[in-house]
Amino acid sequence: MSGTPGEHDTTTDPAGFRPRVPAAEWNDWRWHMRKRINTTDKARRWLRLTADEEKAIAASAGKYRWSITPYYASLMDPDDPACPVRLQAVPAPGELERFPGTDVDPVGDTYYRKTNRVVHKYPDRVIMLVTEACPVYCRHCTRKFHTTDVTGTYFRDDEGGSFDEDLRYIADHPEIRDVLLTGGDPLSYQDGKLEEIVSGLRAIPSVEIIRIGSRFPVLLPQRITDDLCAMLARHHPVWLNTHFNHPKEITPESAAAVDRLLRHGVPVGNQTVLLRGINDDVTTMRTLMTELLRIRVRPYYLYHCDNVTGVAHFMTSVEKGWEIMEGLQGHITGFAVPQYVLTTRIGKIPIARPYFTPTADGLLLRNYRGEEMVVGTAVHPITEPDAR
Ligand SMILES: *Cc1c(COP(=O)(O)O)cnc(C)c1O
Ligand code: SF4
Repeated sequence: MSGTPGEHDTTTDPAGFRPRVPAAEWNDWRWHMRKRINTTDKARRWLRLTADEEKAIAASAGKYRWSITPYYASLMDPDDPACPVRLQAVPAPGELERFPGTDVDPVGDTYYRKTNRVVHKYPDRVIMLVTEACPVYCRHCTRKFHTTDVTGTYFRDDEGGSFDEDLRYIADHPEIRDVLLTGGDPLSYQDGKLEEIVSGLRAIPSVEIIRIGSRFPVLLPQRITDDLCAMLARHHPVWLNTHFNHPKEITPESAAAVDRLLRHGVPVGNQTVLLRGINDDVTTMRTLMTELLRIRVRPYYLYHCDNVTGVAHFMTSVEKGWEIMEGLQGHITGFAVPQYVLTTRIGKIPIARPYFTPTADGLLLRNYRGEEMVVGTAVHPITEPDAR
């Protein structure tokens, strides 16, 4: 990508989509928040909407929130409704269809919720659902009921209210060493409010690390300002996991946002969701993972798409997930291979197929090319050998 993004370039944008935007505004995240696309009229300045999209937008009114930052819209193909960026952000008819087995909370957040915002599911770490706001409402959000569904949320009404009860719970449970701020997107808050939350956590001696789950580096990388990064750096160790799903999302702007975080000592990881029609093929996923390494983001999880109400049309089979994982493992460095997990009420469960089978003769191993060998029990005993 070259030139100032958002400027109308008649060579790459002959149809005249992508309105001309002065650089000072384009580089200001608040401008993008103010100018979010949330009506068909605004969307038509960026995309040639299809009849299906228009129908879905109309049908989801009053049910699902819809908003797209101009930055994220600029990554979309204005003429291709199957564009992988567009599919993540523009409502589709599948959201309003009914599928068997869907649930608004398949991961059990409400079951493990201990205070208004704290979900305590694992022994040593919690998540804090600090907001329901996001710059773009991803159509595939696993917390769609909380973020995108206007009829629901896991919060009481006082999102802006005091965090005292939540902080007290964490302080009262010194086994909690790791607090993950999520939502919604925590970076939707202004820096001042965010620093209040982070320093509240830092004041608790048993909290060792603070993690932030944020899709801003992908949806509006301009939000990752030097001021924000310097603020986070005052409260280290702070880690951030983001959510790239497709190589098209890796741009000079997103790479620069990641670079600012890294320069301020915030390690950046990535959680991808396996989505039908978006990234459910080996080539796309291999490119995504290696491109992430190029911008120094470490792949962490590959989530199997949960059977969430309004999201089920994005689901793939577990077989497809295996095929993709086996197209990564060994073909590219292990550093670029995420862990394939299913998020359930009982936790995140690794579901990749093993590369070994225990046999009477030892471990039967296979490699990425399908070649097999047995390592005998004399070399690698499977059970503890008898005392010698
Ligand atoms: C995902 C999640 C975590 C963090 O899990 P890690 O595997 O440590 O990244 C913690 N608590 C809840 C409730 C979660 O859903
Ligand atoms: S940014 Fe994250 S929390 Fe917000 S809608 Fe997208 S996936 Fe959901």
